[in-house]
Amino acid sequence: MSQRPSLAPHVLVVEDEPAQREMLAYNLEAEGFRVSQAADGDEGLASVRDDPPDVLVLDWMLPGVSGIEICRRIRARPETRNLPVIMLSARSEEVDRVRGLEIGADDYVTKPYAIAELLARVRAQLRRVRPSTVGQVLEFGDIMLDAETHRVTRGGQSLKLGPTEFRLLAALMEKPGRVWSREQLLDRVWGRDIYVDTRTVDVHVGRLRKALMAEGGDDPLRTVRGAGYSLG
Ligand code: CA
Repeated sequence: MSQRPSLAPHVLVVEDEPAQREMLAYNLEAEGFRVSQAADGDEGLASVRDDPPDVLVLDWMLPGVSGIEICRRIRARPETRNLPVIMLSARSEEVDRVRGLEIGADDYVTKPYAIAELLARVRAQLRRVRPSTVGQVLEFGDIMLDAETHRVTRGGQSLKLGPTEFRLLAALMEKPGRVWSREQLLDRVWGRDIYVDTRTVDVHVGRLRKALMAEGGDDPLRTVRGAGYSLG
């Protein structure tokens, strides 16, 4: 298990052809992504439910539940409504492309595709949903976080953050205003396979608070009683 399992964006690949699936997984992993694989529609839906990805790469033609149907179900559930979906298809007619986008896919790639192009499309979707993972600078009020240089400043002053506090702040800054439960923060910041007591979250939020206010300024973190934490 790597030290930073959960800062890596999580991509789920649903593709029934093993060679295609493994080639994709290999290349996505080489990009530093965490990759899950599913070989058919049912497995894909179960994976989305049990370990929600940041981006879904979805083959159109699948045995059992088709890619179109998966996309439709994902859009129907509030928890996954905004999950970016990139559809893969051997069909190249414009009408299919339109249909793919109509049923709610965010992007559409025709087979055979160049892997570099697909990776670029995945990154484009991630830029939208998890900007800190693709080297963007996040801003919240006077706080700035640069994921590439691992620098955090407030009002232009450099702040000293431990690695866990940094990941915690990155998660919070990706979605200002969202209330995160302790369990959600554990999954995102520590990783789901690591056993950590939820009280650990409180300890690190405390440290993050202290670090953020070290050079002055108000407390930007909100404790929501019985629910968790949010930024702003
Ligand atoms: Ca297929």
